[in-house]
Amino acid sequence: MKLAVIGFGNAGGKITDKLLWYEQKTNRDLIKTALSVNTARVDLARLEHLPEEHQFLIGQTDSRVKGHGVGADPELGAEITEMDRHEIDRALDTVPVYDIDAFLVVAGLGGGTGSGGAPRLAEQIREQYDEPVYGLAVLPSRDEGGRAVLNAARSFRTFADSTTNLILFDNDVWRGSGDTVEGGYDRTNEEIAKRVVTLLSAGEIDDSPVSENAMDSSDIRRTLSENGVSTIAYAESDRIPEQGGFLSSLRSNGTHDWNGADSATKVNGLIRQAVQSRLTCPADIDSAERSLLIVSGPGEAISRKGIESGRRWIEQTTESVEVLSGDDPRPDADTLSAVVLLSNVTDIPSIDQLQEQAVEAKENIEKQEEVRKEETEELLTDDDDVLDPI
Ligand code: GDP
Repeated sequence: MKLAVIGFGNAGGKITDKLLWYEQKTNRDLIKTALSVNTARVDLARLEHLPEEHQFLIGQTDSRVKGHGVGADPELGAEITEMDRHEIDRALDTVPVYDIDAFLVVAGLGGGTGSGGAPRLAEQIREQYDEPVYGLAVLPSRDEGGRAVLNAARSFRTFADSTTNLILFDNDVWRGSGDTVEGGYDRTNEEIAKRVVTLLSAGEIDDSPVSENAMDSSDIRRTLSENGVSTIAYAESDRIPEQGGFLSSLRSNGTHDWNGADSATKVNGLIRQAVQSRLTCPADIDSAERSLLIVSGPGEAISRKGIESGRRWIEQTTESVEVLSGDDPRPDADTLSAVVLLSNVTDIPSIDQLQEQAVEAKENIEKQEEVRKEETEELLTDDDDVLDPI
């Protein structure tokens, strides 16, 4: 699938930057163009792989923003995006639409620019173009506080409505205990990039050999069908020794042989491991309507038989008959990866929890505002309200 990726806000920009990095590192050809839109100049300046001419600053002339961001206010993020529509148009004009299969809009939902702006951008793209608009939404970690949770719960609803399909990533389940915030983000952004690039680039014609059982962008489009929410499963094998190499000859006694019957068992095992390990956003996989499985790696390690039994297992586990599968041989890869897109999932405990916490946060914020108003009023007036203001 050929994509135009647009990162909105700080997280959106950084993740887009990481998608470009991973695509280049693995010699794939997925991203036709990548853009970043932000209200904060300093966030754009930190991007490493997105060229300056693909960075768009909105709200520069607004006295509340002036290039310094919207201060985690999604209403302002949405307003600025609408007001600066000409700048967004300028960004969209650079997209070679004839050459892409879909748009991907990426944003973190806990802040202001991405949370408020990304859904507006998705709406604008859908009004102007026929290509599907997928969203990649990052949910905040619950310890970011009530405001982030409230922003995310509100934006989730709008973003899901305005995109063809919304892929979720929950920071809460990916946060490492020993991580610094930025170090942790860098690591999680790499995890996101691996999954999204491996999934969406399958079937693209690049320098890799054409697979017998390749995916095609219409398979991905079919799986990411209208108005759904999706999550991605992924697992990667240990390094596979080069065929005919020293390590390989040492291990040719069967236990590490990636060819023949044994490789089918390993591929099948890797697929099960993917689905049973941490999803980008934990969800009840029974509730998925459709799935798409891709096994990518050195051609000699990919067993069609293994993929077929893995596919049947996903079909039984998700109780769905819509499970597509394909392979993506990568001669320069030294590991095998299985990626499974679970689409149109409806049972997502993190969303239920986020919404509950957001309701609580909304009530607390309103209560605090009320108390602050009363206290300020009390401060400004004398005890018996005798004094008149001048
Ligand atoms: P915005 O620029 O106003 O859209 O706000 P940010 O993008 O800075 O933050 C929005 C949310 O995204 C935060 O609440 C975090 O949960 C999340 N976030 C920020 N940076 C990153 C990042 O680099 N990676 C990930 N996975 N999440 C991030």
